[in-house]
Order: sequence, then structure tokens, then C-alpha cells
Amino acid sequence: MSHDCLFCKIARHEIPARVVYEDDQFLAFHDINPAAPVHLLLIPKHHIASLAEVGSDDSGWLARMVQLVPQLAAENGCNPLPEGGFRLVANTGIEGGQEVDHLHFHIMGGARPWSKRAAPAA
Ligand code: 5GP
Ligand code: ZN
Repeated sequence: MSHDCLFCKIARHEIPARVVYEDDQFLAFHDINPAAPVHLLLIPKHHIASLAEVGSDDSGWLARMVQLVPQLAAENGCNPLPEGGFRLVANTGIEGGQEVDHLHFHIMGGARPWSKRAAPAA
């Protein structure tokens, strides 16, 4: 846990969010500035800055996090394949467009067109 980290604060429910999923390891909530009709953020509750910090000890929880993605997409309005689908984005580092230094997956979907803003939807 990091006391100054925005997403740690959301994970501790110190800052409100529109939560769509929670278990002992993960939290998913709506992005405050959606770039698509469906735009969720999925975070681990423990603090890790980004995918660049992931090591061999992290394979278990990271696999569970990835496994949650299609379930959350389907439960929150992404349309089924083959016509539907979803986008999974993990902005990493400054040149990757990462603004919040707590690992998060953007899960985006819904009928197009989506926002043209440069990151992360373009
Ligand atoms: P990044 O650029 O780090 O990949 O994405 C950070 C995302 O967090 C952005 O899409 C931004 O809209 C979202 N965000 C920033 N602050 C908050 C907040 O306080 N609440 C929620 N729900 N989303 C936030
Ligand atoms: Zn954090």
C-alpha cells in the first residue's frame, strides 16, 4: 500500500469510485473520463507501479487479473464476439502515456465510434 497513491486510496475506499467488481485481490471501477461507451479500470489492490515492475513472483495474481478481463467486459456492456469485443490497454511509463503510477488495465468497448482523444483510446 502506498499512502499517496490515488488508486491505493480507491482500493481502500478512501476515494469514491463507481465500483463494478471487488474481491480480496482486485477492484474494477468506471474510468472518471471514459474514452469509450464502456471504460473500466481494473487494479490489483496491492501497490505495484506498472507492468515494468512485474517479475516471476507475480505470475499467479497477474494471470488471475487477465482472466477477469473478459468476464468484466461482458458483465459491463461490451458486446459479444465476433461483432463486439473489447480493448485491453496497460499504459506503462511516461512515453507509454501512464498518468497514475499504480498498475491498471483499461478495459474499453461498446459500439463505435469512440472518443478520438489520443490516449488511451486512439
Ligand atoms: P493512465 O493514463 O495512467 O493509463 O490512466 C489513468 C486513468 O485514470 C485515466 O483514464 C483517468 O481518466 C483515470 N482517472 C484518473 N483519476 C481518476 C479518479 O479519481 N477516478 C477514476 N475513476 N478514474 C480516474
Ligand atoms: Zn497504489
